[in-house]
Amino acid sequence: MGLDASARFNMTGVSDVPENFFARVDEESLVALSDGVVTTTLGQAINWARKNSIWPMTFGLACCAIEMMSMSASRFDIARFGAEVFRGSPRQSDLMIIAGRVSNKMAPVIRQLYQQMPEPKWVISMGACATSTGVFSNYALIPVNQIIPVDVYVPGCPPRPEQLIYGIMLLQKKIQQEAGTLKDVLNLG
Ligand code: SF4
Repeated sequence: MGLDASARFNMTGVSDVPENFFARVDEESLVALSDGVVTTTLGQAINWARKNSIWPMTFGLACCAIEMMSMSASRFDIARFGAEVFRGSPRQSDLMIIAGRVSNKMAPVIRQLYQQMPEPKWVISMGACATSTGVFSNYALIPVNQIIPVDVYVPGCPPRPEQLIYGIMLLQKKIQQEAGTLKDVLNLG
């Protein structure tokens, strides 16, 4: 339980702490207690481990993939995020970066690869073509969100590696905020 404002007031010895100064912090700890301290904390630890060990699939569709490769090389270096291990198999990957345009011919292949990835898994749509078919708006292409769910969209043609890194950081935030992780891991959901 958090200390009330007056107790903290006395400990710090500061005389001008406004009323309700600690209210937000105290309320947050009460929420954590009502959810169950142990499950919340373990779930957050699992989320933390997941967000710092994202393994993307080795997979590129067009010019955007050059920027994606550059992101994993020494200049931009996504090893800082624990995400540099591009896997050669969907069964070892938890992130699919759609880097380039999605043709009708490739759509079933992308869907099958996505289905072969184990849970939990995430998708980043990189560039205008993947998200909306971009400048190639014609019958041969489709937006990727019509075949698989997308977690983060990165705009641009092509997006720079920094933009894709920012997309990965947004995905990390999303993974960290995932609720009920421990229940899912223990199959209690
Ligand atoms: S968004 Fe631009 S760079 Fe990316 S695949 Fe399309 S045309 Fe190529």
